[in-house]
Amino acid sequence: MNVSFFNAGAVLFGVPDYVPALMSYVEAYGIALGFQHRLVAIDGSRKLARFQRILPDGTTTTVEHGFDMIHVVPPQTAPDFIKCSPLADSAGWVDVHAGTLRHTAFDNIWALGDAANTSNAKTAAAARKQAPIVAHNVLASLGLEHGTACYDGYGSCPLTVERGKIVLAEFLYGGKVSPTLPTWLINGTRPSRAAWMLKANVLPALYWEAMLKGREWLARPAISR
Ligand SMILES: Cc1cc2nc3c(=O)[nH]c(=O)nc-3n(C[C@H](O)[C@H](O)[C@H](O)COP(=O)(O)OP(=O)(O)OC[C@H]3O[C@@H](n4cnc5c(N)ncnc54)[C@H](O)[C@@H]3O)c2cc1C
Repeated sequence: MNVSFFNAGAVLFGVPDYVPALMSYVEAYGIALGFQHRLVAIDGSRKLARFQRILPDGTTTTVEHGFDMIHVVPPQTAPDFIKCSPLADSAGWVDVHAGTLRHTAFDNIWALGDAANTSNAKTAAAARKQAPIVAHNVLASLGLEHGTACYDGYGSCPLTVERGKIVLAEFLYGGKVSPTLPTWLINGTRPSRAAWMLKANVLPALYWEAMLKGREWLARPAISR
């Protein structure tokens, strides 16, 4: 089977430290990479996908590729009720300060998760760290807590590269690699069985029993006084 990967962006993954591990799988699986390809139409009956391709000189051209099976990921966007509200920035996300997560124009509004315009990877792992920060800062604004909690951009992408192995990307604002566990246990820049075990056996309990019940001591934010 011929496998192609088309991406509207210019790189395979935004944090360079994780690219070599991912590229080794691209090569092993014989995947043809195509960057700067934006999907514009699919002809289902002829099994053809049409892309607008940006050329190195900045001009665009239209190219078509056939497929047997196609997996399409739509561009990330905020829901309309946010995008069309005064809370949104020009791209449609809730406009907050990157550290405090407080709205840039409305003092009594904070935002976290995918809808916020912070530049972290939009992941549940990020929302997990952001929730206690917003909770602290809301309480502080009500005079019930002291100091300011500050979000560092932490996000995590467990990238499944084969059955039983994961590349565990964890990074902060600016693409700074930030592993939670010591690298002798899980080196996130390499595919590992330990990362798979973490995702399959540990994280579900963390999500259901700790994070969603607000009992997540590991996600406590640093407070500046
Ligand atoms: C395929 C896939 C795999 C992923 N894998 C991972 C992973 O391995 N690790 C990880 O950390 N993250 C992962 N993510 C990302 C993660 O799911 C999101 O970052 C996370 O769910 C964001 O949480 P949120 O609460 O901000 O938004 P959401 O989970 O999108 O919640 C928003 C909620 O608002 C509701 N809503 C929308 N409009 C309205 C309205 N008008 N009124 C009321 N409610 C409304 C929606 O129905 C939804 O329930 C993955 C995402 C996808 C799509």
